[in-house]
Amino acid sequence: MYLVQVDRDKCEGCGECAEACPGSVLGMVDGKAEVVGSNDDCLGCETCVTVCPSGAVTLQEL
Ligand code: SF4
Ligand code: SF4
Repeated sequence: MYLVQVDRDKCEGCGECAEACPGSVLGMVDGKAEVVGSNDDCLGCETCVTVCPSGAVTLQEL
């Protein structure tokens, strides 16, 4: 299982992570990315980490 976290202070609100996430784990809330789905649906693909231009998304394997 994976733990996805978004640092709202670093997020620039581009929406790339939410758009790219195949598990619908990430979404946009008030112009910033947030975990809106379940971490259980995270595939650990690291796409969100890769597409984020500001290093706001971190992924941890539990
Ligand atoms: S690692 Fe993949 S499935 Fe998990 S939140 Fe990021 S983009 Fe979505
Ligand atoms: S890709 Fe990074 S900067 Fe863009 S919305 Fe997601 S967390 Fe924010």
